[in-house]
Amino acid sequence: MRVIQTLTALSCLALVVAIFAFSSETKPPKEKTNMSSDKIKAKTITPDGRLTEPVETAKVELSEKEWKERLSPDEFDVLREKGTERAFTGDLLKNKEEGVYTCAGCGLPLFSSDTKFDSGTGWPSYYQPISPGNMEEESDHSYGMVRTEVMCPRCGGHLGHVFNDGPQPTGLRYCINSVSLDFVPDTELKKTSDAATPSEKAEIVLAGGCFWCVEGVFEQIDGILDAESGYAGGDEATANYKAVCTGTTGHAEAVKITYDPSKVSLDKILEIHFATHDPTTLNRQGNDVGTQYRSAIFYANDEQKKAAEEYIAHLTEEKKFPKPIVTTLEPLKKFYPAEDYHQDYVACNPNNPYIQAVAMPKVEKVRAKFQESVRQYLTTP
Ligand SMILES: [Zn+2]
Repeated sequence: MRVIQTLTALSCLALVVAIFAFSSETKPPKEKTNMSSDKIKAKTITPDGRLTEPVETAKVELSEKEWKERLSPDEFDVLREKGTERAFTGDLLKNKEEGVYTCAGCGLPLFSSDTKFDSGTGWPSYYQPISPGNMEEESDHSYGMVRTEVMCPRCGGHLGHVFNDGPQPTGLRYCINSVSLDFVPDTELKKTSDAATPSEKAEIVLAGGCFWCVEGVFEQIDGILDAESGYAGGDEATANYKAVCTGTTGHAEAVKITYDPSKVSLDKILEIHFATHDPTTLNRQGNDVGTQYRSAIFYANDEQKKAAEEYIAHLTEEKKFPKPIVTTLEPLKKFYPAEDYHQDYVACNPNNPYIQAVAMPKVEKVRAKFQESVRQYLTTP
């Protein structure tokens, strides 16, 4: 009996606290910036545990069935059905460890432990999100109140509400359901202290004649983490320079470009590629003739294929070239790195007559035409 009375008293207290906590003056929602496309720009945690600067990340869209498989019933109720957990029941309410609070639905970082404070409401409270792009806000008129709901911008999961009665420096109180959060302690996060650490990596393999030139062009560009000469389009047995030179292996001299999409977009890479080789000459670049010198884009996924198709359609529509573009779009089966002496050939052999005659004009063209994309130290004296 006493237990029941205590429980009833606790429930009443929770209800009073709930009404108090959720009915204070509300903060108007900020402009929606994240909802229009299928991507958002936000800090993320990479699969190897690094907290990034804001990068483009795809929204997570699952069916109700998939969410039910992924989430516990309590998580589903709060994140997907906008439920509210009972006050003082959340695991993370009293957590004082240093680290990052992430969305329990999709793992997006939401709050740093630095901004957590004890609001006395019974729900974990923070005075600001980990980055502006890591929080979505919307007016909520439910229960006869006007409140500002906060959601995960990547998966749309309901988190809680934000009010204007928080501590400085923001004066805001993000009142969050503990069950909608996971916690990653600092000790599990890899440090991203230096700018040299890439925030995110993507790869595409391009061919446009001699790979020394293509590599030399892309080595100039800020955001290119690596440009590696090699072979694509044929088999492992013939992935060597001697065999590829016969023009009968199916291989093209190609360059694998690894880039940081937060610094250079795939469209920019394609723009540079088409500006630095002739995509209208079949199996030929200047004096280099043979299928190994074909213009090609080896796509690794449908997104790359679509981007390449759209870019070629755009060039065709704008009549950028006097003749039809013959660049082939080929699914990337495997990229085979070329022999060591082919790597960084332009940088290592600046006086080679071929480099002087063919590669350097392309490198110079890139530096002039794409000044804003060229690495700073190459443009400033
Ligand atoms: Zn999420």
